[in-house]
Amino acid sequence: MLAYEIRAKVARGEVSPREVAQVYLERVRTLDPSLGAFLTLNENLLEEAEGVDPGLPLAGLVVAVKDNIVTQGLRTTAGSRLLENFIPPYEATAVARLKAMGALVLGKTNLDEFGMGSSTEHSAFFPTRNPFDPGRVPGGSSGGSAAAVAADLAPVALGSDTGGSVRQPAALCGVYGLKPTYGRVSRYGLIAYASSLDQIGPMARSVRDLALLMDAMAGLDPLDATSLDLPPRFQRALAEPLPALRLGLVREGLWGNSPGVERALEEALAVWQGLGFSVREVSWPSLPLALNAYYILAPAEASSNLARYDGSLYGYRGEGEEGVQVVEATRARFGLEVKRRVLVGTFVLSSGYYEAYYGRAQAFRRRLKAEARALFAEVDLLLLPTTPHPAFPLGSRPDPLAMYREDLYTVGANLAGIPALSFPAGWEEGLPLGLQLLAPWGEDERLLRAALAFEEATDRAFLKAPLGEAL
Ligand code: GLN
Repeated sequence: MLAYEIRAKVARGEVSPREVAQVYLERVRTLDPSLGAFLTLNENLLEEAEGVDPGLPLAGLVVAVKDNIVTQGLRTTAGSRLLENFIPPYEATAVARLKAMGALVLGKTNLDEFGMGSSTEHSAFFPTRNPFDPGRVPGGSSGGSAAAVAADLAPVALGSDTGGSVRQPAALCGVYGLKPTYGRVSRYGLIAYASSLDQIGPMARSVRDLALLMDAMAGLDPLDATSLDLPPRFQRALAEPLPALRLGLVREGLWGNSPGVERALEEALAVWQGLGFSVREVSWPSLPLALNAYYILAPAEASSNLARYDGSLYGYRGEGEEGVQVVEATRARFGLEVKRRVLVGTFVLSSGYYEAYYGRAQAFRRRLKAEARALFAEVDLLLLPTTPHPAFPLGSRPDPLAMYREDLYTVGANLAGIPALSFPAGWEEGLPLGLQLLAPWGEDERLLRAALAFEEATDRAFLKAPLGEAL
């Protein structure tokens, strides 16, 4: 059952929040040992469910939360040995707002350490498996959230997206994932990776469920100076009639897509044309280089953000006589990929190299953004694949650059600060495929409206519950 259906059942008194919580908890206990989607379960869930007022708008909804989003009193690891035993003393705004509306946190989901990766194999604990094929990755870094939603271990989940981490796993697991406009969802309580790119986003099995979460979470937050005063109107927007929109198919950088992805693009265009949308090919010339700029800027910000893990304030503290020994022993706990990013980031920010790398990447980012703005004078939405192919086998990307290349279609939206949504749109050899819609800054609602039209026109043909449904 979809989240909005569960919610309606709770509102009608046909099922209690406690019963819903019980069903999902049992299901996680039965199925998750073979998936590895969760790092921590909320042991107080049933007790918390007792206290929920069934009249609240999200009463009865349980949410899986990516483990780089802090939850008060509930262990939050960011997939790292450094925070293995970290119990946050405060709550992320996104979580606090969902809870205030009656939702409950089911548990914390697995991720690549600090969000750095595209497969969830960089989790310090264990990899997560794709519910469609246990030999394949679920994508990353929000792989635990994507696998949980695909397997219906949770009706909805939160992820975070710095360079694609909501959308890419959503695509590889056959679910929906939204990377909102930068600033629409507060980052307060999101463990920082690259602060100018990080956004929390919802994952679900229907567009309406994304809207449910966004209406609860988005909006100005005095605790995040970069949050936007753009009141969410997602559910209302979905109820309005959709005008015929102009769709731009981005042709740049479409290198080596699998046949299934090419087919999905064609079929999606045909569906929207059938709804009266106009379609044309457009050019976003800087897009093919976005990956290069991203893998300078994101590590640069990460090297600064991760400097706080020195053993003095948070999480693990290494042993040693002098301060520097403590810092070294503490940071020895970072995984290999995190160390690589800190090294790269420190290098590109070092004097003598700053202008050659960081400065140029920043200038490039401004150009990419300006090009996107110009494109949106001609079209209302951009369409491109989320990933060039379906889920890849575990262990098949040992070369870091090969892993980075998985993000070629997703990093553009983060660098431009604009909203992007991945939606299920095809199949290839039994595996789900996702495509991506991008909208102008602040027009997140438009993405959901177009995606809902597609979801309805295709009669949900691209949704499957590989392990059945909880309810
Ligand atoms: N795969 C990208 C990276 O490793 C994006 C990760 C993310 O969005 N958190 O940086």
